[in-house]
Amino acid sequence: MDVATNLRHIKQNIEQACAKSNRNPEEITIIGVTKYVTIERTEEAINAGIKNLGENRLEGFLEKHDCIQDKASWHFIGTLQSRKVKEVVDKVDAIHSLDRMSLAQEINKRTETPVDCFVQVNVSGEESKHGLAPDDTLSFIKELEVFENVRVVGLMTMAPHIDDKAHLRSIFRHLVSLRDNIKAEQLTYAPCEYLSMGMSNDYQLAVEEGATHIRIGSKLVGS
Ligand SMILES: *Cc1c(COP(=O)(O)O)cnc(C)c1O
Repeated sequence: MDVATNLRHIKQNIEQACAKSNRNPEEITIIGVTKYVTIERTEEAINAGIKNLGENRLEGFLEKHDCIQDKASWHFIGTLQSRKVKEVVDKVDAIHSLDRMSLAQEINKRTETPVDCFVQVNVSGEESKHGLAPDDTLSFIKELEVFENVRVVGLMTMAPHIDDKAHLRSIFRHLVSLRDNIKAEQLTYAPCEYLSMGMSNDYQLAVEEGATHIRIGSKLVGS
């Protein structure tokens, strides 16, 4: 299927989810996750109107970024090794996988301008997933105050690949309540307004529950 058709479909589903939850579709940023696909397919996504791209590996990110440059905003969504920070930090618009102090320290050191970061939370508790335990998230974010180049714009989570809608909703709601608690602290370096949650399998539910950034790969550009 061509990307434009997929995107039309996704936008219709977002509109439906927004209608159900009384939200404005303009609040939702679609991040096209291109980690599985070629440069050509990535360019097709840009031509279809995708303005935000996500990559989860350094090599894929650099390859795509070299070609596409500022025709898109760039989101680094995968586990980021500290020693690779310097290669991405000034090329990305946001990092969605901040999950440890050493990474924050490296981001802070390798740039001169504040970087928008999402703190990754492992809400589902799956061992295979990265991220902070929900109960550790607020104290972690409080410790980030010392890093003037780390700006916490939101929280990110990956739900398990399951069909159980009630379970998925409970994961998304948990992230919403954590975000609300952090936002209530009114930390100047951590406005924490955004929620990066929802992928191909579950983005409609994530939008109904309050996602502001959805990360869609297979249903948009294919896998
Ligand atoms: C691969 C990936 C996605 C997109 O997954 P799909 O199920 O193909 O939409 C989203 N977020 C992260 C962190 C990923 O690694």
